[in-house]
Amino acid sequence: ARKFLVGGNWKMNGSKQLVDTLVKALNEGKWSPNVECVIAPPAPYLAAVRAAVRKEVGVAAQNCWTEGKGAFTGEISTEMLKDLNIDWVILGHSERRSIYKESDELVGKKVAAAVKADLKVIACCGESEGERDAGKTTEVVFRQIKAIADQLSAADWANIVIAYEPVWAIGTGKVATPQQAQEAHKEIRGWLAKNVSKDVADATRILYGGSVSAKSAPDLQKEEDIDGFLVGGASLKDKEFLEILNCRQ
Ligand code: 13P
Repeated sequence: ARKFLVGGNWKMNGSKQLVDTLVKALNEGKWSPNVECVIAPPAPYLAAVRAAVRKEVGVAAQNCWTEGKGAFTGEISTEMLKDLNIDWVILGHSERRSIYKESDELVGKKVAAAVKADLKVIACCGESEGERDAGKTTEVVFRQIKAIADQLSAADWANIVIAYEPVWAIGTGKVATPQQAQEAHKEIRGWLAKNVSKDVADATRILYGGSVSAKSAPDLQKEEDIDGFLVGGASLKDKEFLEILNCRQ
């Protein structure tokens, strides 16, 4: 069975004070042992969060570079993340793709470099509103996932979680319906079965992201191919994030 995973992507939000509030909520909060929690604070807070939050909570970077070290001013290295006991990294988020022009190929290379450095990866994909309206959802998502799969061996997939985040649902309050999300997740799983392997398709968790809230989570989590969430805005609210963690027993 695929363990349900709830990730909190803080994006470029927070402060020492918010770190204290959210870490305290997670250290004191309760949720099912069947639910894995991973939080992704901004890079400057990673070490402090890792030191303060209880061990069972995973901590993720929101990005990293393809190299372990070197002349890459401003970048975050895979080796440094390991050095700080950070186990996870989010890669290919739509904001990285659109604002920072990360190509499918670069995202694929980053995912491969991160896995090689022994990090677990939440690899994001998702179509824009225009692409969905043009009937291109699967074409776009398959292209993004293929660019990642091209760089990986079958064994690498044990360390990959996919996040399906339709761009039109991110930060808009316009959450995908459970049916829309399920349909996309099923397509992604089918792609994995056909192009990687049936075992990888069965084992790989596919998270939904895009305006997930305490209100929308209970119905979304019922869908067969939804194995968790990548939560943005609501992950900055201690009570609501705990409610989302508790949408599943
Ligand atoms: P929101 O939950 O704020 O829509 O953000 C989703 C997201 O991009 C998570 O990575």
